[in-house]
Amino acid sequence: MPHDVDPLLQGFRRFQAQYFGEDTPYRELAHGQQPGTLVIGCCESRVHPPQLVGAAPGEVFVLRNVANLVSPYDPDSAHASVAAALEFAVLSLRVQRIVVLGHSGCGGIRALMQDGAPADSALARWLAIAAPPRAFVVRHHAERDEAAQLTVYEKAAPLVSIEHLLSYPWILEAVEAGRLRLDGWYFDMRDGALCGYDPKQRRFIPLVCPLEN
Ligand SMILES: [Zn+2]
Repeated sequence: MPHDVDPLLQGFRRFQAQYFGEDTPYRELAHGQQPGTLVIGCCESRVHPPQLVGAAPGEVFVLRNVANLVSPYDPDSAHASVAAALEFAVLSLRVQRIVVLGHSGCGGIRALMQDGAPADSALARWLAIAAPPRAFVVRHHAERDEAAQLTVYEKAAPLVSIEHLLSYPWILEAVEAGRLRLDGWYFDMRDGALCGYDPKQRRFIPLVCPLEN
């Protein structure tokens, strides 16, 4: 594909014009970053975390993987990339907040719910991190249709991730010391709303309601 029609290069030119003209934020950013928040989101193309929260370059540190999961603390874990990103964000950058961002229509959660990942695949091994809530969803929401069950599971995934985040001793310590806040969010792309988990009410509550038509 010629350079002048490559959509990715055209996109970079627009980015370059926005951020490398006069008064560019990269004059400062090129020397280092100080993001205050780590967002853990899904790989999914429709849920780009900085775009969803209107963050400029340098404002959020992002960890993305299938179904926005966090593997539990284990120094010998095969999922070292997760731990490495957490170490860097929490211990080096000292972010003050971690948001785990689940979303509607998650292909990873669907694969988990329906055993859709090929046996012995990397995907199946990865999704096993969030397998425990499945029995709960099936047992307690058996009367609901498949779409409703998926929504329940999609909302459970960020909570599993938060539980796993707290298994990292230095994350637990930072949370208990009040230096770090953990939030579980759910982006519903069916109506453009954002919900957040309220630990007191033990349920997701609206943070940003859908636009009124
Ligand atoms: Zn997803």
